[in-house]
Amino acid sequence: MKLPEGMHVLERGWLSSNNIVFIDKEKTAIVDTGYKSHEEQTLELVQNLLTGRPLDAIYNTHLHSDHCGGNRILQDTYPKIHTAVPEAEFRRVENWDARLLTFKATGQRCDQFHAEEGIKTNQKIRLAGMDWVAHCAGGHHPYSYILFNEQNGILISADALWQKGFGVIFPALDSWAGFKETRDTLDMIEAMDVRLVIPGHGKPFTEVKEAIEAAHSRINYLEADPLRNAQNGIKVLAKFLLMDKQRIKLTQVPKLLASIPLISVANRRYLSYGDIHLAYWTVTQLKRAGAAKVEGDELVNIEPAY
Ligand SMILES: [Zn+2]
Repeated sequence: MKLPEGMHVLERGWLSSNNIVFIDKEKTAIVDTGYKSHEEQTLELVQNLLTGRPLDAIYNTHLHSDHCGGNRILQDTYPKIHTAVPEAEFRRVENWDARLLTFKATGQRCDQFHAEEGIKTNQKIRLAGMDWVAHCAGGHHPYSYILFNEQNGILISADALWQKGFGVIFPALDSWAGFKETRDTLDMIEAMDVRLVIPGHGKPFTEVKEAIEAAHSRINYLEADPLRNAQNGIKVLAKFLLMDKQRIKLTQVPKLLASIPLISVANRRYLSYGDIHLAYWTVTQLKRAGAAKVEGDELVNIEPAY
């Protein structure tokens, strides 16, 4: 399915969220800005598309650092830019509370940025001549928004729906919350007339019904034993850590993993491994997934080409 005029999807490697750039006569804007360690690449991609025009606005679907890690470099480059974040996070950004913003808990880096607006449920956002309606979509993140353009049946789904599944249900790592919200979000999407999904990660796709069915069976699988979601969460967080550092001495892995609060909490709650056992398990999992390799006494990141 062809994208409407003025809408561009920058599909990124798995660890940086896709960026959706909108360009029309009045305004240029981006939805989500990728991960901090890919910020230079983000800026270059955006500048290529804008051909000399400034970027006027940033909209973040949610404030995980793979979706807002490029905010700062874009704000530094385009000082007049207007930034909108989910309303519930607005004050936290104003006060730059890295604990409540979860960057500390997840061990992810994100440079401080500013915001001028809080995105509200049912808010209409005009981008490239189209009306996009923001819907709060809990599950992966309690304050994540998805954007729907009814006229073209296009959904910007962030991490609420991918072609195969959805993002880690982070709230379930340290509580029982998140499964119901994930299901509610899927039901909400099912009730929309979606014909094209632009996911936060991976290629845009039109097989919407199949994706929703796959997501439902995944939520059933995860909820039947929340250990599975916790294992997935630990692997993802460890991969982000490795992506940031690129190489980690194997002897340092136990301490580093233990220093990330959400990994510790999920381990205590679901796995109950000692630090060394957890490090061994995590390294094995990352190697098996092709996300890392061991060279000598170091764990080395493997980054897929984008
Ligand atoms: Zn996310």
